[in-house]
Amino acid sequence: NKQVVLKDYVTGFPKESDMDLVEGTITLKLPEGSNDVLLKNLYLSCDPYMRILMSKMEGPEGFRTYSPGSPLTGYGVAKVLESGHPDYKKGDLVWGFTRWEEYSLVPASLILFKIELTDVPLSYYTGILGMPGMTAYAGFFEVGLPKKGEKVFVSAASGAVGQLVGQFAKLTGCYVVGSAGSKDKVDLLKNKLGFDDAFNYKEEPDLNAALKRYFPEGIDIYFENVGGKTLDAVLLNMRVHGRIIVCGMVSQYNLDQPEGVTNLANLIFRRIRMQGFNVADYYQLYPKFLEYVIPKIKEGKIVYVEDIVEGLEKAPPALVGLFRGRNVGKQVIVLAHE
Ligand code: NDP
Repeated sequence: NKQVVLKDYVTGFPKESDMDLVEGTITLKLPEGSNDVLLKNLYLSCDPYMRILMSKMEGPEGFRTYSPGSPLTGYGVAKVLESGHPDYKKGDLVWGFTRWEEYSLVPASLILFKIELTDVPLSYYTGILGMPGMTAYAGFFEVGLPKKGEKVFVSAASGAVGQLVGQFAKLTGCYVVGSAGSKDKVDLLKNKLGFDDAFNYKEEPDLNAALKRYFPEGIDIYFENVGGKTLDAVLLNMRVHGRIIVCGMVSQYNLDQPEGVTNLANLIFRRIRMQGFNVADYYQLYPKFLEYVIPKIKEGKIVYVEDIVEGLEKAPPALVGLFRGRNVGKQVIVLAHE
């Protein structure tokens, strides 16, 4: 049972050498009387929050940090090999929390959903039909309360969450601009993902001026994925009664000292609502979300870009790559196809 374990707590940017690929053991048989579930992991999800769990710190509310020597945990898609729990049976496909290893024995409470629809790529359950999809949906619609005609800005716009926020915004009748870290990503946003416009933030020496160019009348909704300098520039470009949906701050996760944000007083001047959220509070909306998104996938009204690598040994570089912008779209690791 190959596993990816954390070697030690991480400071600064994560490196491949912070993780080890080791040969663990697992008995491919449920212990007598267990009500756990034995999983064969098929797809693993690479997510920026995993960096937060690699730090030595008191986990923020609801987070438990990783333990050195143990496999990383995270979202994945898996097949049930054996189940001691009445809700699951051999052969079921599920998505939820598993570990970075080939086979996992997990409590049934960690499985979030049984996969019913299988005529889409199974990897989608790490992305558009999984946690990032729910994040984009809950954040944009439930927290952002968008209205037709509003002007929306999305950062890390080509990523797992951002690409969906942009498409949801277009489907709502909004004007949407995204920022991303390379020319290829900007082309993807404009030519494949339907954004009205997009720019490479690395080539904008003055983000405030860039935002003024794209939003001469200001931003109604900012979907925040990066934090830091981008947030500071956005605060100068929000419209009165705008909303800032704080989904993530990936530019800050590797810093010992988070960057200061200097323009917060605009929350007052412009009567802005800035609200953080955690997708875990919204999973009760999953059936409603599937009803919204599945027909749109089938009709080609929503597309989803994935960056798929094969093999558990590719997992550490893939995770590290998120913080260098190496992933183009949702970063997925395939362990087995079924
Ligand atoms: P992505 O697929 O977008 O991958 C991360 C991307 O972040 C990279 O590709 C890179 O894109 C960008 N990035 C990395 N470092 C920086 C930096 N220093 N400055 C600006 N951009 C950077 O990730 P996800 O879509 O999975 O996640 C997006 C955000 O949503 C994250 O902040 C994540 O923590 C958050 N999140 C929050 C949830 C919640 O419940 N609140 C749930 C899920 C995700 P580029 O090349 O464009 O720089």
